[in-house]
Amino acid sequence: MSSDDDWGFDTAQIHAGAAPDAGTRARATPIFATSSFVYDSAEQAAASFLLEDLEGFGYTRMSNPTTAVAERRIARLEGGVAAVATASGQSATAMALLNLLRSGDHIVVAGEIYGGTSNLLGQRFAEIGIAITNVPVADLDGWRAAVRPSTRAFFVESIGNPTGAVADLEAIAAVAHEEAEVPLVVDSTLATPYLLRPLQHGADVVVHSTTKFLSGHGTVIGGVVVDGATFDFGTRPERWPGFHTPDVGHGSGGYWERFSPLRQAYSRRLRSTVLRDYGPAPSPFNSFLLIQGLETLSLRMRQHVANAEALVAYLEGHAQVERVHYPTATGSPTAAVAKRLLPRGAGAIVSFDIAGGLDAGRRFVDSVRLFSHLANVGDVRSLVIHPASTTNSGQSEAQRAAAGIGPGLIRLSVGLEDAADLVADLDRAFAAAR
Ligand code: PLP
Repeated sequence: MSSDDDWGFDTAQIHAGAAPDAGTRARATPIFATSSFVYDSAEQAAASFLLEDLEGFGYTRMSNPTTAVAERRIARLEGGVAAVATASGQSATAMALLNLLRSGDHIVVAGEIYGGTSNLLGQRFAEIGIAITNVPVADLDGWRAAVRPSTRAFFVESIGNPTGAVADLEAIAAVAHEEAEVPLVVDSTLATPYLLRPLQHGADVVVHSTTKFLSGHGTVIGGVVVDGATFDFGTRPERWPGFHTPDVGHGSGGYWERFSPLRQAYSRRLRSTVLRDYGPAPSPFNSFLLIQGLETLSLRMRQHVANAEALVAYLEGHAQVERVHYPTATGSPTAAVAKRLLPRGAGAIVSFDIAGGLDAGRRFVDSVRLFSHLANVGDVRSLVIHPASTTNSGQSEAQRAAAGIGPGLIRLSVGLEDAADLVADLDRAFAAAR
C-alpha cells in the first residue's frame, strides 16, 4: 500500500506502509513481539546473511514487521526512499552520522541545536576522534569557512530547540554539496513532515526523535533516520570507505556498488552494519505506540500550531516578557526563512526570556499547574522547562549564549488543551514570579 504515491498527507499517515495482516487479517498493525523469525531453509538463512534476501525478517535488532510499518510510513510522509527506526532520537542521530563518519573525520554543526545532541557530538564523538565545528545556523560564510579536507557531514535542526532558529536548508545544502561535497543531515523533530519536508529542500538524510510529535502521547522513546537516497557516494570513493569496502559476513562488493542501483546504499548500510553492530533497535511495542500517534499527526500539528500562535501573541504583549523566541516571532533572526519554509506554521515550541532572570524563571516553573514541569517536548500535554539548568546544563555558558539560551529562558512545548486555560496557567505563574 505504501506505493500509492497519490495519497494526501492525511491518508498516508493512516494507511502508508500497512496492510491487513496476511496470516490473521488483523486490521490494525499487530505487535510482533518476537526476537527472531524462522528461516524457510538453510539456503534462505544463508541468503539473508549475505544480504541477497532483503524481504524477509531475521532478527529484531535489524528489523521487525511492526517497526517496518512505522518505518515505511515515516519514509512516505517525509518523501524519502527508506527509513530505519532506532530506540531513541539520540541513537537516530548517532547512527545516521556513524554511517558516514570514522575516527579522524570532521563535521560542521549548527550552534542552535538540542543540548543532548550538543553533548553527543561535542563530547562523545570527540572521544572517538570525530572533530566538530559549531557554526551559527544563519552564517553561510561560517559554514563555508568551517569546511576541512576531513569534513564528511553537515548537521542542522530544521527548527532549532529551544530558540526556534530555522535553517535555510537550500542555502546550507548548496554549501554542503557544491563546496564541501558532503551530505546534509537534518534533525527535523520540531517540524515534523506535516510542517516541513527537508528532503524537498536539499537535505539528504532526515532524523527525528519519534518520542516527540510523531508519537505525540508522551509514552515512548524512539527515533528514526530517513534516507532520501540523494547523495552520491560513488564519485569520490576514497572519501567513503564504508560504502566501498566489502562488509565482513555480507558477501562481496561494497554497499555503493551493490545497493545504489536500488537507491538503498545509505539505508542498507545503516541497517545491516551500523544498527546491527551498535544495536539500538526499537522495541516492537514502542513501534506500535508510534504508529498510533502517526495516524493523527496532521490533526495534532494543526492544533499545536494554533495554540502556539495564541501563546506567542499573549507573551509578546506581556510586561514580564523581555523577548519571545519562536520562528516567526517579531525580531526572530530567521523569521524570513521560517515564513518561506513553514507555510503551515512554525511548530509548538515557544521560548521566552522572563524579566528577573534565573530567580524569576525558577519561581515561574514552580508555579504552573496545567503545564507539566518536565524534560520533553511534543506531548499532547503542555510542558515547561528551564533549559539553562536542565537540558542545556552540559554546555558552557558561552555555548548556551551562542545558542541564544540566556539564564532566564523558559521553554514551553504547547499542547492541545484549550488556549484560554493555558493562558490562565501562565498568568498564575507570571504573578508568582513577579
Ligand atoms: N532531537 C531533538 C530536537 C530533541 O529535542 C531531542 C530530545 O529532546 C532529541 C533529538 C533526542 O531524542 P530522544 O530523547 O528521543 O533520544
